[in-house]
Amino acid sequence: MYHLECIECHRKYSETEVIYTCTCGGLLDVVYDYSDIQITKKDLKGSLSVWKYRALLPVSRKPISLKEGGTPLYPVERLAKDIDMKEVYVKHEGMNPTGSFKDRGMTVGVTKALELNMKTVACASTGNTSASLAVYGARAGVPAVVLLPSGKVALGKLAQALMHGAKVLSIRGNFDDALKLVRALCDREGFYLLNSVNPYRLEGQKTIAFEIADQLGWQAPDRLILPVGNAGNISAIYKGFRELKDLGFINNVPKMTGIQAEGACPVVAAIKNNESMITPEARPETVATAIRIGNPVNAAKALAAIRESGGTAETVSDDEIIRAQHELASLEGIGVEPASASSIAGLRKLVDLGIIDTDEKVVCVTTGHLLKDSEHVLNVCPKPIEIDATIEAVRKAVFYRLKAEGI
Ligand SMILES: *Cc1c(COP(=O)(O)O)cnc(C)c1O
Ligand SMILES: [Zn+2]
Repeated sequence: MYHLECIECHRKYSETEVIYTCTCGGLLDVVYDYSDIQITKKDLKGSLSVWKYRALLPVSRKPISLKEGGTPLYPVERLAKDIDMKEVYVKHEGMNPTGSFKDRGMTVGVTKALELNMKTVACASTGNTSASLAVYGARAGVPAVVLLPSGKVALGKLAQALMHGAKVLSIRGNFDDALKLVRALCDREGFYLLNSVNPYRLEGQKTIAFEIADQLGWQAPDRLILPVGNAGNISAIYKGFRELKDLGFINNVPKMTGIQAEGACPVVAAIKNNESMITPEARPETVATAIRIGNPVNAAKALAAIRESGGTAETVSDDEIIRAQHELASLEGIGVEPASASSIAGLRKLVDLGIIDTDEKVVCVTTGHLLKDSEHVLNVCPKPIEIDATIEAVRKAVFYRLKAEGI
C-alpha cells in the first residue's frame, strides 16, 4: 500500500527496511498507492485526533497513543485587528500531550519502531523532540536516548525528558552537532532514529493540515505561517494539504510561509537568494531555542514546499519574537513558547511589507506551549511586586501599579 521513495533519484525502498536517507543521500518520502485508499469526508466525521486519519498513515499495528492531535484552531480577532488583517487563526499545537506538535510525529514514529521490531529509540533535540520521545518511549516500554545541546534547552523540556526516564546526554556542541552524533550512534548500535529526517515522523505531522482543513469545514486557508527549524514540519504540513487536494477534499494548497530567527535563517536566505540548496550556518543563535538550527536536515523538502505553494520565507528578530509572544498571551490568552511566536511576528512583518494581503485567510501554527520555557518568561516579564501582608500595602501596590500603567 506504500513504500519509501527518494525525493532526488526516486529510488524505492520497502516499508520493512530500516532506512532514513537514500544511498544517494537524498531525503525519503512515504509514497502511497492512493487508488488503494478509500476515504471520503463522511468517514472523517467525529472528533479530531491524529489517528482519525489512519487511512492516510503508514502503520498497521495498534498505535502507541496518548490522544495526540485534536488541537484547537482559535480565531484571533483582537490580534488580527491590531495587524490590520480580516481573518487570522491560531492552530495551537502546544495543546498536545507533551506540549508540542512533536507528539504527532512520535505517536506514528514510535509505533513504527515497534512494527520494525526496534529495541531502542533515539534522537537529537533542541528540547521538544526529546520530551516527546521520552514520553512515547515510556508509553511503548522502549528505552529512549536523547542528545541535547548543553545549556541551550528550555527547562520544561529538559524536565520532561528526565522525568519520563530517557537517557539524557548533554552534548558540548549545538543541535547540528548532536544530530550528526545521534545519526552515527543509530547506525552503529541499531537504535531507531526519530528525528524529522525519519519520514514516518513527518507522516504523523501532516495531520496538522488535515485538522486545519477539517476545522475550517474542508477548506484550506490562503496561507499557512509557521516557524522553521529543522524544516520537517513545514514539509509535512505541505504534504498533508497536497494529499487533501489530490483526494478532492480541498481546492487549494495554502501558501506555505516559513519564519526563521535572524540569527538562524539558512532557509530564508536560500529563498531570498533563489538558491537550490541552503548554506549551513555554523553558529546559529536566537532566544527561540526550538529553532536554533544552522543546518536544517529537511531543507530540500521545505524549499520545494515553499516554492511549489507560492509561499515565502522571512526572518524576525528576537525582539519581534518576544513582542509577538506577549501580544498573543495578553491580547488573546494564548500562551506559546518563543519559537511559536515567530509565526505571529512573521505575519506582522509580512503584512507591514505588503507581501501578505490583508484579505487573506491566514492560519499561524503555534508549535509549543508557554510553560515549556518559563525561565525565558521570567527574563522578559516584570517581576512580581513583593509587599507586606496588609490590605493597605495591597491597595497601595494595586493602585500604584494601575497608575503606572496609565489606567
Ligand atoms: C521542533 C519545533 C520547531 C521547528 O520545527 P521543524 O520541524 O524542526 O522545522 C518549532 N517550534 C517548536 C516549538 C518546536 O518544538
Ligand atoms: Zn536517492
